[in-house]
Amino acid sequence: MIPFINLQAQYQGMKDEIQKEINEVLESAGFIGGPKLAELEKNLATFTGVKHAIGCSSGTDALILALMAIDIQPGDEVITSPFTFYASAETIAFLGATPVFVDINEDDYNINPDLIEAKITSKTKAIIPVSLYGQTPDLEKINAIGKKHNLVVIEDGAQSFGAEYKKSKSCSLTDIATTSFFPAKPLGGYGDGGAVFTNDDATAKKIRSLLNHGQGERYVHQYIGMNGRLDALQAAILNVKLKYFPKEIQQRQEIAEIYTERLKEAVIVPKIKEERMSVYAQYSIRVKNREKVQKQLQENGVPTAIHYPIPLYRQEAFKYLEVESKEFPVSEVVASEILSLPMSPWLTVEEQNSVINEMIKAVK
Ligand SMILES: *Cc1c(COP(=O)(O)O)cnc(C)c1O
Repeated sequence: MIPFINLQAQYQGMKDEIQKEINEVLESAGFIGGPKLAELEKNLATFTGVKHAIGCSSGTDALILALMAIDIQPGDEVITSPFTFYASAETIAFLGATPVFVDINEDDYNINPDLIEAKITSKTKAIIPVSLYGQTPDLEKINAIGKKHNLVVIEDGAQSFGAEYKKSKSCSLTDIATTSFFPAKPLGGYGDGGAVFTNDDATAKKIRSLLNHGQGERYVHQYIGMNGRLDALQAAILNVKLKYFPKEIQQRQEIAEIYTERLKEAVIVPKIKEERMSVYAQYSIRVKNREKVQKQLQENGVPTAIHYPIPLYRQEAFKYLEVESKEFPVSEVVASEILSLPMSPWLTVEEQNSVINEMIKAVK
């Protein structure tokens, strides 16, 4: 079986450096915060061009921290995409606020900015555009809507760290942005991790406090917060991985280009819009008879995955929202046809050839 994401190959290439970093943390016995985290935050800020990069415990907690920082309360509404990983909307509901879904574009599978304004009410406080599969939505358009209606825009960049929109990096383009260092994400750690980004000093200060129990000075608590810290081991590992990340992004582009060139006649391939660069967290194509195709690929050693089979308004946990599927024709079609192929910088030429050949056979 071809690996869906070959993290073993990545580790083999960085093994000595990662083990050295881990050892330094073990020898120092400083496991929470400390110099490795400070170094990572500095490196993340430099990489994205954002003033404040704040390490935290996961991409999910990063979203919760961003929403808490702007004081999202029960009764508030937050607009997001229904075609994303559950956490994009779960975090809104977790704070007692109401996720309001807006259908996606048929080309990039991101929230359709032209449908956002119709969903804004007096209760709307924020918009969370998700940069799905590693490509940002039209953030300029979404920022303009946010500005016009006095809403905070929070990019969920869990899948798009390293991507670009008009030459600026994902996570640098909105009031606040979040990312995830879950192992399978473009920049993954060896456990859970995430980060929040903002240029605003006061917001950054509040987030740093919220992720440490709302603490300012030690044992003096200003907010109801949480334990949302990133540990020193993850920070040390991510520092090594970040060094190699620009090269990996290049490799992801090259692999995606080959997929697109050779599959574009057979299936619907991803469309990267003008002035955008995707990091291809997933390389997802669309086919009509997905179940049959997926089964045949599996039988021939090609693993695939479905990101995501059930739009969020149809999840049992969101039944209480009483949202009707017919409001989201594009999400419905895409969720029934989408299929992600093996994708990582370490996919070999032979492996990719095999994926492509099996794919072409399967859709015949
Ligand atoms: C992975 C992911 C998250 C959550 O990140 P975790 O680090 O797993 O908590 C949030 N949003 C999107 C779009 C994701 O893909």
